[in-house]
Amino acid sequence: MATSCEKMKKIQGHPCFGGNHHKNGRMHLAVAPKCNIKCGYCTRRHDCANESRPGVTSRLLSPEEAIVRVREVMASPVTGPIIKVIGIAGPGDPLFNEETFETFRLVDREFPDLIKCMSTNGLLLPDKMPVLKALGLHSLTVTLNTLDPEIGGRIYSYVHYHGTTYSGKEAGEILVRNQLEGIRQAAELGMTIKINTVLIPGVNDGQIPLISQKVKELGAFVMNIMPLIPQADFAHIQPPSAERLDELRRDNEKTIGQFKHCKQCRADAVGLIGENLQLAVTTAG
Ligand code: SF4
Ligand code: SF4
Ligand code: SF4
Repeated sequence: MATSCEKMKKIQGHPCFGGNHHKNGRMHLAVAPKCNIKCGYCTRRHDCANESRPGVTSRLLSPEEAIVRVREVMASPVTGPIIKVIGIAGPGDPLFNEETFETFRLVDREFPDLIKCMSTNGLLLPDKMPVLKALGLHSLTVTLNTLDPEIGGRIYSYVHYHGTTYSGKEAGEILVRNQLEGIRQAAELGMTIKINTVLIPGVNDGQIPLISQKVKELGAFVMNIMPLIPQADFAHIQPPSAERLDELRRDNEKTIGQFKHCKQCRADAVGLIGENLQLAVTTAG
């Protein structure tokens, strides 16, 4: 694992962790199709809603196609100098797809200086932590929407774990337990951790201060409170206003740093946050 000095240098290079936002970019590789849970706000027609712009579906890549894309992007005079991070964020859950690990291995072999970053629902974090450690994953985003298994049962219609499908409170219990244990272990290994929380009005509002407190204790670096996009099971819920979101972020900033510039990039995004330089790359798809 990286020394604290190396770690600080890497954080500064990672746009999603507040580093050089206008200079450094990330490239997402959509290599992870399957998911093992069902979030109430997910339509499954698009990329994982935990880390991507709604309404956009990425073209799925195999690990071999992904490394070809990385070579092209890194060789391009437009994108090469700015890409500092390779992120895997979907379209399903990265940990539930072996292609994620294979892709990171291929990237690491050719581009060891690129920061390896992943976003997950956290269900398989304790199971996969030894693999992530061996890969030298630098930064991790976990979507944590509640600490309360009852509320979890309302947010997740099912959780598929070790061959069994759970629902209701039982599903919430397994997911929350694994998320928290995974965050704890990742922090212990020195990974830089971002927590995404989807604010679902009337469902998990009261959980936000509890989550920020808990993840701070566990060693997370920053929190990103995201507004609900009303769709799927939660199509009837009114999304939070910008003022409400600002207020919550301000309140929780006292506990843990808040990430405020998230533009919810698509899972195959290439470039600076809020921009997409795909056209600069020959095989843009
Ligand atoms: Fe959808 Fe992502 Fe939730 Fe899976 S983790 S159900 S892909 S939003
Ligand atoms: Fe940023 Fe998340 Fe992608 Fe990592 S996985 S580069 S934190 S959006
Ligand atoms: Fe990820 Fe949001 Fe940063 Fe885009 S702006 S790279 S979605 S954290």
